[in-house]
Amino acid sequence: MNQQILETIKKTAENELSLVKNVKELENWRVKYLGRKSEFVSIFHNLGQLPPEERAKIGNQANKIKNFLFNLFNQKEKEIKISPPEEKEFFDFTLPGYPYSVGHTHPLTKIFNEIITLFTSLSFVVVEGPEIEIDYYNFEALNIPQEHPARDMQDSFYLQTSKESRPCAQERGKLRAKSKEYLLRTHTSPVQIRVMEKNKPPLRVIVPGRVFRHEAIDASHSAVFHQVEGFAVDKRITFADLKGTLSFFVQGMFGKKVKTRFRPSYFPFVEPGAEVDISCFFCSGKGCRVCKHSGYLELLGAGMIHPNVFKAVGYPSKEYTGFAFGIGVERIAMLKYGIDDMRLFYTNDLRFLSQF
Ligand SMILES: [Zn+2]
Repeated sequence: MNQQILETIKKTAENELSLVKNVKELENWRVKYLGRKSEFVSIFHNLGQLPPEERAKIGNQANKIKNFLFNLFNQKEKEIKISPPEEKEFFDFTLPGYPYSVGHTHPLTKIFNEIITLFTSLSFVVVEGPEIEIDYYNFEALNIPQEHPARDMQDSFYLQTSKESRPCAQERGKLRAKSKEYLLRTHTSPVQIRVMEKNKPPLRVIVPGRVFRHEAIDASHSAVFHQVEGFAVDKRITFADLKGTLSFFVQGMFGKKVKTRFRPSYFPFVEPGAEVDISCFFCSGKGCRVCKHSGYLELLGAGMIHPNVFKAVGYPSKEYTGFAFGIGVERIAMLKYGIDDMRLFYTNDLRFLSQF
């Protein structure tokens, strides 16, 4: 054992440490040069066999080198922990990329947008209103007074406004009489009242939105669905304007060949009222399973705004006339895309949604 061997060990250890790249290699190096079974330890073990004058010299030198290597080790350990060198992974740049799945609008949103585009081209403006309504706007002002049978067809969800338990049916009647009870709107028509209260004619407005009914859910009923209410008020607006407007809408939505038919019907907030049908575009009016062999498909309800509605908002009904209509967005989408179950719109099944 002489000084030269120690110097060689020092140099080799230093060289090898400079090649160390990660924690694992560093640990191997530590075991080899500073571990219990390393050469150094054996040097210390064998010190006793050396002559006394050499023993001190070698011992001293070995200690110095050991400390030197220990410092080098600590320094290297810090370097590796601060910036661990990245593992070089093989990456084949010639592989094809992953297909990017691009989302798109929901079929109902698409129909909403189409309806809005058609009506805004006729200079209708879009207005939105609250989904939580009071009885007055949802029923009363729309000529659907207390105890009116039309309320039965539009049962809603009523909101508890106090800490007391939900009022029983009889009490609910009293509460509604005060017109302060909150409910989820059953149609977008209340916005008609809200707009007319704050604005003077001429008005051309469409109201897209979500509506709610206390309904058992099946293929053609849902507790939540979508409507676009539309109305126009001005001097000398006639039924012919309503027909022209809705024919334009129908042809824009379903094609130029589709005909419109108006059947007398009843809605409390219009007089006269009409059910609007379109000629069946599946069979071109010849009669098929979809139109139940009638050649026509029911589309929407419309009519001339009832004088009582004008009275509720303080318009002189002799001066102004107007029309209103309510479009069921699901109904349009089902007809346009040939969908027979409206629940498909709400289940978020990509097998369905990706078809649009
Ligand atoms: Zn048909």
